[in-house]
Amino acid sequence: MEALVADLWQAGQAAGLEGARLWAALVTVSMLGGLVIYFGFGGLLYLRYYILRRDDAATWKLQAKRFTPKKLHRWATSVAAGNLAIGGLLSGSYAYAISQGGPTALYLDVGEYGWTYTILSTVIGFVLLEAAAYYTHRALHGKWLFRHVHRWHHRVVAPTPFTTTTMHPAEFLSFQLTAFLPTFFVPLWAGSFIGLLVYVLIFNIMDHSGIEIHHSLPWQSSSRYHDDHHVHFHCNYGQNLMFFDRFHGTLRRKDRRYGKDVFGGRGAPAAGETAPDGGDPFVDYS
Ligand SMILES: [Zn+2]
Ligand SMILES: [Zn+2]
Repeated sequence: MEALVADLWQAGQAAGLEGARLWAALVTVSMLGGLVIYFGFGGLLYLRYYILRRDDAATWKLQAKRFTPKKLHRWATSVAAGNLAIGGLLSGSYAYAISQGGPTALYLDVGEYGWTYTILSTVIGFVLLEAAAYYTHRALHGKWLFRHVHRWHHRVVAPTPFTTTTMHPAEFLSFQLTAFLPTFFVPLWAGSFIGLLVYVLIFNIMDHSGIEIHHSLPWQSSSRYHDDHHVHFHCNYGQNLMFFDRFHGTLRRKDRRYGKDVFGGRGAPAAGETAPDGGDPFVDYS
């Protein structure tokens, strides 16, 4: 922790920055970092599929016949960019607070806690981030919160890479806070923390890409898992792992009916269909 403060302070001094100028520099770097990943990586996916392969959408697009209208897409992209700017403001201010000796449990030198602790805390941090995302998201699907807050995110039924962070700013802030708060109490390597944030952003972009993507990472669900969340609304609340959805029965089932007005996460009985005997009742998103 002391090393992290000293490092940031020295970097600021070396660049001749202090006070408001150091804060402005850290905010700018954080904002640019988020925007470059979002529009750089998202832009590559968009160019490669939506522009160059638009005519053969049936071979790559999850909702092959549904394209988001231009006006809605423009609105969604500008809301997403605005949220990323808020995110940059927050993480830049957080880095500035650390540079001024603010309280945080992040550490810079792996030697402080050793590799075993560093690796274990990163894995646990990933699972806890996932748990926070699942329960926050599930709460957002309660009737009141869905209609007043989370509806922003669900205006886009066929998401694209640029609509990943399209959501009510209050929702975006709640996700940011659940990610940042634990770092004040639980020691975590700064590299792991940045790595986890970048991982979540990159995979979220792929999950919202609208492109069929399967990952070789065994714990990572395919992009259809979250795309189906946009099609069917109240199911598949998880982010990267399907564990919590399976555990709570909110993973989409083959024998249930879902839709905008079917709240609760477990669907409604589907007329004329019976549960498949034996076999897994849940849709396969591997
Ligand atoms: Zn949702
Ligand atoms: Zn989404």
